Amino acid sequence: SSKSEDSLRSPICCIMGHVDTGKTKLLDCIRGTNVQEGEAGGITQQIGATYFPAENIRERTKELKADAKLKVPGLLVIDTPGHESFTNLRSRGSGLCDIAILVVDITHGLEPQTIESLNLLKMRNTEFVVALNKIDRLYGWKVCRNAPIVKAMKQQSKDVQFEFNTRLTQIVTQFKEQGINTELYYKNKEMGKDTFSIIPTSAISGEGIPDLLLLLVQWTQKTMVDRLTYSSECTVLEVKAIEGHGTTIDVVLINGILHEGDQIIVCGMQDPIVTSIRALLTPHPMKELRIKGSYLHHKEIKAAQSIKINAQGLEHAIAGTSLYVVGPDDDVENVKEAAMEDMRSVMSRIDKSGEGVHVQASTLGSLEALLEFLKTDEVRIPVSGIGIGPVHKKDVMKAIVMLEKKKEYAIILAFDVKVTQEARELADEAGVKIFIADIIYHLFDQFKAYIDNLKE
Ligand code: GDP
Ligand code: MG
Repeated sequence: SSKSEDSLRSPICCIMGHVDTGKTKLLDCIRGTNVQEGEAGGITQQIGATYFPAENIRERTKELKADAKLKVPGLLVIDTPGHESFTNLRSRGSGLCDIAILVVDITHGLEPQTIESLNLLKMRNTEFVVALNKIDRLYGWKVCRNAPIVKAMKQQSKDVQFEFNTRLTQIVTQFKEQGINTELYYKNKEMGKDTFSIIPTSAISGEGIPDLLLLLVQWTQKTMVDRLTYSSECTVLEVKAIEGHGTTIDVVLINGILHEGDQIIVCGMQDPIVTSIRALLTPHPMKELRIKGSYLHHKEIKAAQSIKINAQGLEHAIAGTSLYVVGPDDDVENVKEAAMEDMRSVMSRIDKSGEGVHVQASTLGSLEALLEFLKTDEVRIPVSGIGIGPVHKKDVMKAIVMLEKKKEYAIILAFDVKVTQEARELADEAGVKIFIADIIYHLFDQFKAYIDNLKE
């Protein structure tokens, strides 16, 4: 097979949960460092990442005497910010991830951001384990530094074990209320199927950390090797027309290799775009700028690199989505499904009543952010249609329909996009309002002023 093991990339794991549940401290504990105390106010202010080499993980799980032989080079863990105002960053974190650790404080149970994280994980279909952290806070806990959890639990008094079980049962019930089945990991035979695993941990004294690492590793072996082997990983940054090249897409190749002639699938507004790479282009090095046609052609390009791709049918590609390479063993239909995943989750947020404003944004990411904002309790603006890229006549047509249904929604909110001359003229003629801004709040202010004005 061409799938050589040393071509596997490291899985990306993100660590999520309510603020102060111990996300950063858990990473510190695994790393053997102390980032947590150095942080401003203890809050992780940006998306930071830590790479754990396989060797490190093997060492830490030795005592469990399980087969922790890793086929991946390591594990990249992203520590996402824990503060409420970082919802968008966090959703970006979970979007990147192959797996996630959801941290819950055993003394608090599920908290608002735990539930928010759960919803993001559900939305993205990301598998996760629950780290039930701060078990050392149980009254009378006897420290067994860095011990596997079963061993540590055996050392505890009846009272501690009783308190643990009571809290565990409560938390399992809270998860059930969110539609999620959970179970202690060593009792969960269905791991990763319908029941998610809970691993009790202490980020301070290290109990349960070997279990957490082992579970992530075993999981990787079981479910992730294929996923990490096949295609390259690529994100579309921008879609644009270039003189002499037609429509091209600028991408970042995060992992793997792209070849001229590769069959690729990109997310489109309605359907996936299946095409093949006609040219792989990078800008000429400075000294060669005089040479006519300022791009270099490549037969193949390895990650990480930013590249301009020329292929047929890219006009409707959507910035902010993933580009998939169809490998020799891949089922095209499956890849198409995967490519449309992002779009589906956005589409599902459109108001079913068919009454609402039309929203247009520059990339899928900015559209998601805007939709998220419009949904919040303070705002609550229903959306009936969405689009990505400049506002065209066809978008205005959609808003015109609303003139008859619900006049105040005959509006286009254009976020960080241009409006074509034709679209502008049609809108003026028909009485459709177009609000343009590059900051979400400004769009809302304009909308609100308009509505208040209508009411008077
Ligand atoms: P984050 O906001 O989720 O990243 O939480 P931090 O890692 O910053 O931890 C918040 C606070 O809880 C800090 O004071 C930590 O020292 C403390 N903490 C974290 N994990 C544990 C744990 O397992 N046991 C105890 N007793 N305290 C913990
Ligand atoms: Mg933190």
